[in-house]
Amino acid sequence: MANISIRNVSKSYGALNVLRPFSLEIEHGEFVVLVGPSGCGKSTMLKILAGLEPATEGQIFIGDREVTDLAPGDRDIAMVFQNYALYPHLTVRQNIGFGLKMRGTDKTEIDRRVDDAARILEVTPYLDRKPKDLSGGQRQRVALGRAIVRQPQAFLMDEPLSNLDAKLRVHMRAEIGALHKRIGVTTVYVTHDQVEAMTMADRVVIMQGGLIQQIAAPDELFNNPANLFVAGFIGSPG
Ligand code: ADP
Ligand code: MG
Repeated sequence: MANISIRNVSKSYGALNVLRPFSLEIEHGEFVVLVGPSGCGKSTMLKILAGLEPATEGQIFIGDREVTDLAPGDRDIAMVFQNYALYPHLTVRQNIGFGLKMRGTDKTEIDRRVDDAARILEVTPYLDRKPKDLSGGQRQRVALGRAIVRQPQAFLMDEPLSNLDAKLRVHMRAEIGALHKRIGVTTVYVTHDQVEAMTMADRVVIMQGGLIQQIAAPDELFNNPANLFVAGFIGSPG
């Protein structure tokens, strides 16, 4: 069974249909990127997956459970958003461990898992620093650390790099790719940047106006775009 199954999900705000019936099966360990122009419904889709917005219709399964009506905290997912807010008064160690502490995990276990996450993300030397004493890239890694420390079924990321400058963005793309290879957690990643989508994804979901235009691996999209919109959006000659 797929790791994430989105079945005929639609979303309307009053008369505005933001998502047309949308179905997508995501395999265990897959890195899927939702991409499309601003306003096409990417963030809405991710919020529905996360449980931050209810779907108007349809069902969502994560792992082997239906989660359609479950609260975000009960879905076994971790989110990384564009405006990743680290707690300024807490150290890196406390920031990474915060979610576990809130869940009542015991201190030895928190320390062990924070140390593991810090090692994976190479922030061990900064564990006792406060966020203000970190670079943008280090802060972004701490934000990722907060997600991976929970060992979730899936990561959901909404434009996690868009606040970074161009050079760091390219660097962090590679870091997120390497992190994904190392821990292999199913990831749904949202971006409006087609280069980011084409370089990071196992499969790309191209959206426009709340509709899926095509779902395919990057080389397939490039060689066989389904329509002119897809070809124009990814800059394919076809
Ligand atoms: P994207 O992330 O692709 O830029 P969004 O999912 O944020 O797009 O938004 C898709 C559409 O839904 C936009 O037209 C947006 O204005 C609309 N929208 C998003 N949230 C709401 C809301 N809470 N109420 C009404 N319209 C909304
Ligand atoms: Mg968005």
